[in-house]
Amino acid sequence: MSFQVFGLPVSRGVAIGRAVLVASSRVDVAHYFIDESRVDSEIARMRAARDAVAGELTALKRDLPGDAPAELPALLDVHLMLLHDEALTGATKQWIRERHYNAEWALSAQLEVLARQFDEMEDDYLRERKADLEQVVERLLRAMSRGPSNSFAPARGAAPDARDFAGEDPLVLIANDIAPADMLQFKRSVFTGFITDVGGKTSHTAIVARSLDIPAVVGAREASRIIRQDDWVVIDGDAGIVIVNPSPIVLEEYRFRQRQSELERARLSRLRHTPAVTLDGERVELLANIELPGDALAALEAGAVGVGLFRSEFLFMNRGGELPGEDEQFEAYRAAVEAMKGLPVTIRTVDIGADKPMERMSVSELRHEHALNPALGLRAIRWSLSEPGMFRQQLRAILRASAYGKVRLLIPMVAHLSEARQTLEALARARLQLTEAGKPFTHVEVGAMVEVPAAALALPNFLRLFDFVSIGTNDLIQYTLAIDRSDEAVAHLYDPWHPAVLALVAQTIAQARAAGKGVSVCGEMAGDPAFTELLLAMGLRSFSMHPSQIASVKQRVLRTDAQRWAGRIEQVLRADDPQAACAEVHRVLANAPAAPAAVTA
Ligand code: PEP
Ligand code: MG
Repeated sequence: MSFQVFGLPVSRGVAIGRAVLVASSRVDVAHYFIDESRVDSEIARMRAARDAVAGELTALKRDLPGDAPAELPALLDVHLMLLHDEALTGATKQWIRERHYNAEWALSAQLEVLARQFDEMEDDYLRERKADLEQVVERLLRAMSRGPSNSFAPARGAAPDARDFAGEDPLVLIANDIAPADMLQFKRSVFTGFITDVGGKTSHTAIVARSLDIPAVVGAREASRIIRQDDWVVIDGDAGIVIVNPSPIVLEEYRFRQRQSELERARLSRLRHTPAVTLDGERVELLANIELPGDALAALEAGAVGVGLFRSEFLFMNRGGELPGEDEQFEAYRAAVEAMKGLPVTIRTVDIGADKPMERMSVSELRHEHALNPALGLRAIRWSLSEPGMFRQQLRAILRASAYGKVRLLIPMVAHLSEARQTLEALARARLQLTEAGKPFTHVEVGAMVEVPAAALALPNFLRLFDFVSIGTNDLIQYTLAIDRSDEAVAHLYDPWHPAVLALVAQTIAQARAAGKGVSVCGEMAGDPAFTELLLAMGLRSFSMHPSQIASVKQRVLRTDAQRWAGRIEQVLRADDPQAACAEVHRVLANAPAAPAAVTA
């Protein structure tokens, strides 16, 4: 039966593939295809794990202390029975043999199928056996991770490349939630699209999904419950619609749209090396947002003229709470700086907290583990200042990278002048320590992110202390409108067009320019072509976004007369409905085209 699920569009394009349901707690299980020639050895790996677990359970039962609860031996028998049940191991073999999934993936795929069957059982006792099944699978996965490794297996969660496996059906991943750190593991993964039940449009999970540059829908509520393993799924990443088991006509229509969007991307990619200059000759800097040093390559390929935001916190995640040391960080920053070949790299100090916990935690886990509101808690610069040793290590690592290229330092979530002052003092101490240690570094510009309304409203005070500011519209919207950006329940109220948001953005750009300080926007608004003309009209000349957005934004820049737009800006800013007013300006200017001016800059 065909049906639709609605969510929030977060990453453009159309993906068509078979559903792979993954429990949130198991998204870090390795997902990769194996070669036909390795099917038997993969099944043998699974069998070996099964035998090892059978041995563990038998030994446990044998060695139970005399005072152990009477139910325990029976429970261990249930686990042994589940372990040998054909519904688990037999079907897992089939996933390996027919789909060429690696053993861990095959096992978790089969667990999802069985878990649903348990959920639908009438009998309470039987329904509760799902937890036993999950424990057995956890044991199997652990045994596999201890056992002889598959030398063809890529790093955790990753895969060689979906497109290397011609002939396999494309796959889309469906989960209740995926933590940002787990999402990172899917760079170069087998999946051609993502759907999650929870999440807002600018949640960090969505941002990382966008950085993978594959169609994705978040906040699709019941998707992981009602879509079944192996269903055919169409993800319309532009509209936020998921079509499950589409009819042949609908499928054909989406295949057509998929081809069109690929052609459009190929067309846009030709703009890669064209300088971003408006019709009236204003040069515009289009920079990249990156999460890991390895992303620098994609930034260069997309034609970025630097990195406007390196979210350093991704270096701190998925390490079991252990922090990366100064040298490790230095190597990562240096790698990014060298990869950018002399172009500027803006490294943001760690922005841990809110929906980016250090430990792997989903949004729902976060909400349950921390009853207080994490978005208003000890995150970003607040956390850094509360960990002075960690902070100075990071500052030293960033400063040291400046010996290898142009580095700029960016401080997230500044709201208080005292935070700015403490940061600058910590930086001065870090410089002194490096000088004393004889470690080289050069001049590094220091900027503040404007992402809390307090910073925007008291901007002149901050401008005196910093060399530049970067507007983080994702958080600025969250804090101005009091909307948790990762909560799909209030996603409809997350409105970048809200007049209060636009007023703060416009005011920040104008004041920074008047003070002769650099100003850029690095939130998602910068990469959304719907805002390009408006931001240009506000006087913005530096945009930082995910590399895949650069070409679309550049196309808009090339077609815009910034001066004529600037003449209309008040009309938009004073409107009750700025989006409609913006559309009206588009219409008026399109009907009265001006003669193109010569490039002056
Ligand atoms: C922002 O808030 O707009 C921003 C760029 O920072 P992040 O999305 O990482 O919070
Ligand atoms: Mg932010």
